[in-house]
Amino acid sequence: MNKAIIITGPSGAGKNTIADYLIGKFSFLNYSISATTRQPREGEVDKVDYYFITVPDFKTKIEKDEFIEWEMVYTDMFYGTLKSEINRIWAAGKAIVFVVDVIGAKDLKQYFGDSALSVFIKPPSLTELRQRIMKRRTEHIDALEERMRRAKVEIKMADVFDKILVNDDLDTVFGEADDLIADFFNKKIK
Ligand code: ADP
Ligand code: 5GP
Repeated sequence: MNKAIIITGPSGAGKNTIADYLIGKFSFLNYSISATTRQPREGEVDKVDYYFITVPDFKTKIEKDEFIEWEMVYTDMFYGTLKSEINRIWAAGKAIVFVVDVIGAKDLKQYFGDSALSVFIKPPSLTELRQRIMKRRTEHIDALEERMRRAKVEIKMADVFDKILVNDDLDTVFGEADDLIADFFNKKIK
């Protein structure tokens, strides 16, 4: 199939919620597991949610050209897409789902071209975005503020992606995501 879905947008917009829904529903989709130097959150599992690695290990992988793209998304927190993930997923005959920040998403879209659909997940408002990050209880207050500052810049980039989904009501956005998948993969899914 050799196709990919790139899901991007600010932290807390609902990217993982939507990606989890799609991957749960469509067995032909598979997550690309990113590498990161941030600490695992409670409940996160190494090699499932991320490859949690140290900064020196991350830098070695950069030197060995093991990433398609990588970013220091937040202060001293590196995230990157490993080339080996693409081989792993395509070799299994699946399509890839990437959940990445906006810069990574632009890089991936450029790399995959028409083989990829890039989707920007937009929160209904910045106030709601803050509420969601606070409700998720995963970030300290300074990390929250850094995510909010970055979100304002990221939302301005929404138009460069193939599609924008406003994540207000969950059932509505799930239905819209279904339609995007149906279109992109030429499948009947309802
Ligand atoms: P991201 O992956 O973009 O950082 P998440 O998927 O982790 O965002 O969502 C952030 C938080 O907001 C989670 O606690 C999630 O359950 C919640 N959430 C996601 N979408 C909605 C929605 N439409 N309405 C209310 N809460 C939502
Ligand atoms: P979190 O710490 O909330 O899991 O992720 C923070 C941000 O990093 C999110 O916007 C997430 O999508 C992004 N991210 C996760 N993996 C990658 C990756 O491989 N590359 C890039 N560029 N960003 C990523």
